[in-house]
Amino acid sequence: MSDYDLDDCGPSTQGLRAGRAPTSEQEHSEAIFATSSFTFGSAAEAAAKFGGEEPGNIYSRFSNPTVRAFQERLAVMEGGEACIGTSSGMSAILATCMALLGAGDHIVSSVGVFGTTVSLFNNHLSRFGIDTSFVSLTDYDAWESAIRPETRMLFLETPSNPLTEVADIARLAEIARRHEVLLVVDNCFCTPALQRPLELGADLVIHSATKYLDGQGRVVGGAVVGDAKRVGEQIYSFLRAAGPTMSAFNAWIFLKGLETLSLRMEGHSRNAQAIAEWLNEQPGVRLVNFPGLPGHPQHELARSQQSAPGGIVSFEVEGGREAAWRLIDSTELLSITANLGDVRTTITHPASTTHGRNPPDKREQAGIREGLVRLSIGLEDEADLKADLERGLAAARRM
Ligand SMILES: *Cc1c(COP(=O)(O)O)cnc(C)c1O
Repeated sequence: MSDYDLDDCGPSTQGLRAGRAPTSEQEHSEAIFATSSFTFGSAAEAAAKFGGEEPGNIYSRFSNPTVRAFQERLAVMEGGEACIGTSSGMSAILATCMALLGAGDHIVSSVGVFGTTVSLFNNHLSRFGIDTSFVSLTDYDAWESAIRPETRMLFLETPSNPLTEVADIARLAEIARRHEVLLVVDNCFCTPALQRPLELGADLVIHSATKYLDGQGRVVGGAVVGDAKRVGEQIYSFLRAAGPTMSAFNAWIFLKGLETLSLRMEGHSRNAQAIAEWLNEQPGVRLVNFPGLPGHPQHELARSQQSAPGGIVSFEVEGGREAAWRLIDSTELLSITANLGDVRTTITHPASTTHGRNPPDKREQAGIREGLVRLSIGLEDEADLKADLERGLAAARRM
């Protein structure tokens, strides 16, 4: 079974079958190797494994069979040669930058990336001489003109959060190739079940596994996927030295998450499509952001680049912050939390939470207005979601 070539299989099969390496116990579901270290048959074997002449497990900071199974499964799903599991999505981004960049290097990032990513770039990497410029996700001229001789990396998320703008990955890959810089895509919102950036020309894919890969809101983790040299050697070497390691227990949770990823992403997308279409017709709703709506500015691009629109929907209610808060507080089923990618629908007010630290004028300029509400659509029944949102909308309209 483990010799079966899964590279050409669909994401459902890959999520269920890739990375399986049963032990002599012939377990059907992966074992959790809850051990910090591994023993050697002899001093010579220990020396050979430490020296890298012989493969094998040494110490769980950098080699653990459960983590390896997760890495192999996700690598196959993303179509990459290698994958490194990390302790969080942020440590996946940190490990990538620390392993591949140095003082004097420059990053060009899309402006709407995850807030903590902006903080990592601006407040932390900057102290090590790594500078970052931010450009609009869909302004390809801006990407190109932000590139300097010392630029090493283009970094983006698509679709963006919370406005769901979609960037043309192949077009950015062409720009990256021409300037000999890396294209790094945070594939958190689509996952390999809906979008495979490496196939479109990206060099590296980042994941916050905390989101859809687990999908059930249980544990924090991350991953980087790409080629054998950058991921398998350079980023691996940083992980081994610095230790932002994924635990075996968490790797097992993510392995189980990957088994249902395709099915869940289809369900999230289907529910989100229904909710977005419905919201679009509700009085008091000004604007609905969702790539699956024909009126979305990159609807056609999303259709060709993604196999489904994903589960993130945002919309603006009339009445600003007061109405948005009233709406959120009047829902009874939805979970008020900034997390996303969960099987349970979550509702957030970006302007006062995830984007709250941005100055109000910058926030408005970026389209994060006071009436904006973000939904990460879960797998509840569509009718129940609509009934709960209707409760919220009615309360907002009564203001
Ligand atoms: C949550 C998130 C991250 C950070 O991941 P953690 O697992 O919370 O460290 C990075 N990128 C995106 C797009 C995210 O949503």
